[in-house]
Amino acid sequence: MDCPICKDASSVSLRLKKTNVFKCGKCKHRFSDTKAEISLYGQEYFSVKHKNFFENPDLALFNYIMDTIIQHKGRQCKVLDVGCGNGSLLKLLLANGFSDLCGIDLIENKYKGINFINNDFFKYQTLEKFDVILSIYNIEHIKDINNYMTKMKSLLKDDGILIITTINDASLIYLSARIFNKIGITFPCQRLYDAHHINHFSIHSLGALAKIYCSPLS
Ligand SMILES: [Zn+2]
Repeated sequence: MDCPICKDASSVSLRLKKTNVFKCGKCKHRFSDTKAEISLYGQEYFSVKHKNFFENPDLALFNYIMDTIIQHKGRQCKVLDVGCGNGSLLKLLLANGFSDLCGIDLIENKYKGINFINNDFFKYQTLEKFDVILSIYNIEHIKDINNYMTKMKSLLKDDGILIITTINDASLIYLSARIFNKIGITFPCQRLYDAHHINHFSIHSLGALAKIYCSPLS
């Protein structure tokens, strides 16, 4: 099993056996050997499984993302939100003076002022290039993260910025779940490392992936 970041199997070992999670000793990235397919992300995923998440967007995070965009690109920039869910971040940007907004997702959205595209991101073809590409809590679901990064990079202007957020595998909640797992309490690990989550990044491993494709913002 190759590490999707280092592309090397020599440092990869099976951890968390019940959940089939592997860890790369080199970049510390954890990833799952899962058969998770894109078909998992039907309407049910949004309306049932992550109902709470989508009904209660993380406004503090959204505001932080918006401030970061304004700081680097202002409001007159072309924004693409990949896997935009119900589009709540784009709606916030629209309400705050952004006007060139595009979102793509497997679920259908309609909203005046936002160009929502109902498609699989990997099948999306366009000649447009964007100043800002957002990937908010998506990358953990993506099996081929290198293809994903390449696709995003291909749609980004040379001086564009890419903002990725994901769950932090090095956070206390994950650490606690792994400790519980060791003493036989497997539920927290099974919940956090369930089939929907394939890549479990830490700041370190996401940084290692980003470095392959982009330079960090100063
Ligand atoms: Zn690695």
